[in-house]
Amino acid sequence: MISVQDLKSAITQRCQTYLIDNPLAKRATIELPLLESSNHILAKDITASFDIPRQHLSAMDGFALAIGSDLAENSVFDVVGESCAGSPFTGTLTTGQAVRIFTGAVVPSDCDTVVMQENTNFADIQSTLDKSQPYTITLAKTANHGSNIRKQGEEVQTGETLLSTGKRLNTADISLLANLGVANVTVAKPLTVGILATGDELVQLGEPLTHLAQIYNSNTPTLKTLLKDLPIIVKDYGIIPDDLDKTTQAVEQAIDECDVIISSAGVSVGDYDFLTQVVDKLGKINHYKVAMKPGKPFVFGEFAKNNKQVLYFGLPGNPLSTIVGCLQFVRPAIWRLTGCAEIDLLKQLRLQAICQSAIRKNSGRQEFQRAYFSQHDDGQFIVTPFTGQDSHRVKQLTRANCLLVLTVERGDVAQGEMVEILPFEWQLG
Ligand code: AMP
Ligand code: MG
Repeated sequence: MISVQDLKSAITQRCQTYLIDNPLAKRATIELPLLESSNHILAKDITASFDIPRQHLSAMDGFALAIGSDLAENSVFDVVGESCAGSPFTGTLTTGQAVRIFTGAVVPSDCDTVVMQENTNFADIQSTLDKSQPYTITLAKTANHGSNIRKQGEEVQTGETLLSTGKRLNTADISLLANLGVANVTVAKPLTVGILATGDELVQLGEPLTHLAQIYNSNTPTLKTLLKDLPIIVKDYGIIPDDLDKTTQAVEQAIDECDVIISSAGVSVGDYDFLTQVVDKLGKINHYKVAMKPGKPFVFGEFAKNNKQVLYFGLPGNPLSTIVGCLQFVRPAIWRLTGCAEIDLLKQLRLQAICQSAIRKNSGRQEFQRAYFSQHDDGQFIVTPFTGQDSHRVKQLTRANCLLVLTVERGDVAQGEMVEILPFEWQLG
C-alpha cells in the first residue's frame, strides 16, 4: 500500500506530465469581467497602459512649494490657490508663493515639495481665514526638499508587466487591475470536473427517503463545496446505481465530457463495488489504496480518449474519507491541472500544537484525526482530538476545526507532546 506522501508525489508528477502535454499557452481561453475573475488563472500577461500615479501627487494635506533645497522654519509663503483631488491648480507660482494642496491632488508643475499642514501655523490661523483671499503661512519646521510627493510612475510604469500568465487572480490582483481600469481579463478556460456518487442506498437532496435503508447523498454537495473556489465547471452526474452496466455508461459519458472525474464510494472490495472494475476496463488504475485513516480505499487512475487525458480520483464513500481524500489529494491536484503557477500558495496551512490528551496510535497508516485547536495568548497552539474517530462521524466533524496528523511512523502520543495540525479553512475567519 502506498504512503500518503508517495501518493501525493505520484499525483504531482502525473499532473506535471499533464501540464507538459496541456500547457497553459495551448489551452483555450475565455474573457471574463474583472469581478468574475477571482481565482481564475490568467492566460495572458497584463501590462500597464499608464503610470500610477499618473502625475506627481501630494501624499498629505498641506502646502505645495517651490524651494529647490531644504528650507528653514519660520519661512513665510503666500498661499495663492488650491489643488484638490480631481481639480488641479492651473496657475503659475512666483518665489515666496504656495498652493494649498490635499492628499491625492496633482502637485503644480513648478512645485517640488509638499509640507504637511501640521508643520505650519495653519491650525492657528485656520478659523480666521477668508479662503477666497490670499493668506500667509509660516513654516513651523524645516521643509525637506522633495518630501510628501508621490512621484509619477513610482508605483507602476507604463508598459510594465504587472501580472503574468499562470497567476491565480486574488483580491489584491483585482484591486490592482481595477486601478488600471482593466474591465475584462483573459483567463484559461475552466477545466470540467465530473462528480459521480454511487450506491443503491443514495437519495438526492430534496427527494423523500422512502425506506429505512436509504441515506442522502451528502458527498456530492460536500465535494462541490470543497471545490467551489477552483476555476472549474462542475458536472454533476447524480447518483449511479450499483450496477456494472450503468456504472460503465456513466463513466464513459464523463470521460467524453470531463477533464477530471471524481467519484465517491464503490471503490472498496464489496460485491457491489464496481468502480475499480470499470476504471480498470476503460482506463488504468495508477494507485489503489493508500496507507491512511480515514480514506484507505482511494483510487488514482486515468483515461485517455481522442488525445484527451482524463484524470480519475475515486474516493471512498464514508463522508469523512471523502473530505480527507479531497483535501489531501484531489483539490491540490486539480489546482495543479488548472495551470496555476503559484502552487506553493495552495499548500495546506500546517501548524504545530501541544496535544492536550494522550492518543493511542495504531501503526501502519497515517491518521487524520478530527480535533479542536485554539491559540494561547503567548501564541502557542493547543489541540484536543475527539474521542471516537470513525469515518461516518459527520456531526463530530462540524465541531472540529482541524485535522490532527499522526504519521505512519508515529507511535502513541503522550499528553503534552507536539503534533501537527491542519486547520480547516472554513473554520478560519
Ligand atoms: P462504499 O464505499 O460504497 O462501501 O460506501 C461506504 C459508506 O459510505 C457506506 O456506508 C455508504 O452508505 C456511504 N456512502 C457512500 N456514498 C455516499 C454518499 N454519496 N453520501 C453519503 N454517504 C455515502
Ligand atoms: Mg456502496
